[in-house]
Amino acid sequence: MPVFFDTHAHLDYDDYHPDFADVLARAQAAGITKIISIATDLDSSRRALALAEKHEMIYAAVGWHPSNAHEAPDDIRPALRELARHPKAAAIGECGLDYYRLPSSQNGSAEEDVRYKQKQAEIFRQQLEVAVETGLNCVIHQRSSFDDTLAQIQPFATKTRGVFHCFGESVERLQKILAAGWLVSYTGIVTFKNGQNIRDAVAATPMDKFMLETDCPYLAPVPYRGKRCEPAYVKEISETVAQVKLCSLDELSTATCATAKEFFPKLV
Ligand SMILES: [Zn+2]
Repeated sequence: MPVFFDTHAHLDYDDYHPDFADVLARAQAAGITKIISIATDLDSSRRALALAEKHEMIYAAVGWHPSNAHEAPDDIRPALRELARHPKAAAIGECGLDYYRLPSSQNGSAEEDVRYKQKQAEIFRQQLEVAVETGLNCVIHQRSSFDDTLAQIQPFATKTRGVFHCFGESVERLQKILAAGWLVSYTGIVTFKNGQNIRDAVAATPMDKFMLETDCPYLAPVPYRGKRCEPAYVKEISETVAQVKLCSLDELSTATCATAKEFFPKLV
């Protein structure tokens, strides 16, 4: 059976409390052999590491999600450095910029938008710095903020690398990321009926420049669309991606697992 990794899952979410063991068992039965549990703040980072300590197949990314930026302390670096040292801390993230729901879209002021964006940029920069210091790569989240995100990574592009997770942008934007030497990863939206633009991006991505992920509990692929997503569904994602790449599942397994092991050096 071809094996795959889920390189972006939120296993620390309450969604999995009722049936965590079953979720892992279904992943294993589907050929998913490694899962990276991605953090959204420092507490979430600690929970992800606790899961990684308990389960051999789980690794953690430690970091702070831009949508939670307003709750972040002024300097997350000391705590993050500490967490990043853990042998199963495989990456920094998810970090980046998210302008999808700015304060002004929820009765806030333009000044609040500016402060919110500044705080996001500040904690993103801190995480890029810790990535450089610790030699870990970054899991990048961007939404409605592509140009600013790209501009912010440029000074770091030769010192660390990132994966633009849940890639859903144009082929032109894909080329900009690849030109910086960075990667992308694809979620279940590749299976959506209205996901042709994502399939075009997949077709244009070289075999050694992308990874697979669920971003669970979000974005369950067809035929589970709208339900709680889980790592086992990388199987459905892999089937669609293999069709688009005109390759076998074995070839896709070999390529994506090799890319993930190279990008997340602590994965063994
Ligand atoms: Zn995520």
